[in-house]
Amino acid sequence: MAPGARRSAWIGAGIAATITVVASSMRGDLDPAVVAAGVVAVIAGGLVGSLSRPRRVAPTEVAARTRHSIAEALLANIPDPVILVDRRSVVIEVNPAARMLLPALKLKHPLSFALRAPDVLDGIEEVLRTGAPLKTLYTTRVPTERAFEVQIGALPMPDGPGGGQPNVVLFLRDLTAARRLEAMRVDFVANASHELRTPLASLLGFIETLQGPAKADAPAREKFLGIMKTQAQRMTRLIDDLLSLSRIELREHVPPTQVVDLGQIARQMVDMQGPLARERGVSVTLDAPDPAYHVLGERDELARVVENLVENAVKYGGGNVVVGLERTFRPASGKPQIALSVRDDGPGIAPEHIPRLTERFYRVDVASSRQKGGTGLGLAIVKHIVNRHRGKLVIESEPDRGTTVRALLPEQSSAAVASTIG
Ligand code: ADP
Repeated sequence: MAPGARRSAWIGAGIAATITVVASSMRGDLDPAVVAAGVVAVIAGGLVGSLSRPRRVAPTEVAARTRHSIAEALLANIPDPVILVDRRSVVIEVNPAARMLLPALKLKHPLSFALRAPDVLDGIEEVLRTGAPLKTLYTTRVPTERAFEVQIGALPMPDGPGGGQPNVVLFLRDLTAARRLEAMRVDFVANASHELRTPLASLLGFIETLQGPAKADAPAREKFLGIMKTQAQRMTRLIDDLLSLSRIELREHVPPTQVVDLGQIARQMVDMQGPLARERGVSVTLDAPDPAYHVLGERDELARVVENLVENAVKYGGGNVVVGLERTFRPASGKPQIALSVRDDGPGIAPEHIPRLTERFYRVDVASSRQKGGTGLGLAIVKHIVNRHRGKLVIESEPDRGTTVRALLPEQSSAAVASTIG
């Protein structure tokens, strides 16, 4: 094949592969093999072209150059770092993502000046020796801990200097978020299993006692059956909360479309929970002066928010619990919003706990939460519901003064409400 035709072929392949790369990365299923192929083709197109002998510029050549600049622009838009080195590991090409990750990267300087990763440098030598691509890991702790999978592949340079010696392309894929998610998943499974195992072990213990030593002891049987019921209820609550959480998470990206009156929902929940709270010596009142507070929402989910927040205020706070509703404005955009607040004048929460309260299974005092029938999932559920409603959850607390939890939800304008109702 003539040099010009070969260059065009490389560029064509490069553009096609790079489009696939960018499309894949937008879909979030970036395949390193495709990326490497695209990158190799794009860079090879450029290098083979630039190293070819000077000649007259034909119209096909002009078209090829245009395609080449498109390919370069696409390469620059690949969100993952890409680095090209020669067979002595000297840097000959980098994309902006690579420069951002490794600011010390400089063209014509050895890669080891910027990337102190023996596994990667050894990997380059191995790829040059064997010709086969390989993957290795690169981790960095500065400025934050990050992990990258590095795909290293040989880039044939048939027309290049060095008598056809190949260069090497490095494609780095950020694994930090995926690893964090995986760690969260493992933690979650471990926590959920532990939470279920505790009441289950207690149930099994009491069953064995009732089958053995306490078989004929009627008063002990009554007492143990009562404890077993409490433990079984705890397991049921935990499973219900786990299922609610996963259902809400599944729909979190689908915003609700129904117009609902948050005032009416709050009133219903206060009426329902008030009598139970009074039995515990806690008053629950509603402070909602306006006739209606419209938001786009899912009635059952918003009722769950009020229910969980009031339950927490009664369980951990106490005194006078006030459920408030007011119209406010978002500080940044000035858009109207409805603030649903649940305030108690209980012991409050120390500041170091507040940022973690919405994590699954996080409790300030595990024993007290269990004893009060808590699962550690209540605020996580509230947070996900508020997220789904495109709102914001704010927890404010002062030790010895009490706690206020606010759900800020975008208000549905009266014009929109009229058109929905009409
Ligand atoms: P739980 O099922 O344990 O109630 P939540 O996710 O609802 O779980 O709450 C997490 C923790 O936050 C509780 O265990 C409690 O320690 C703390 N908490 C929540 N609301 C309040 C409140 N109003 N006052 C004091 N502590 C609270």
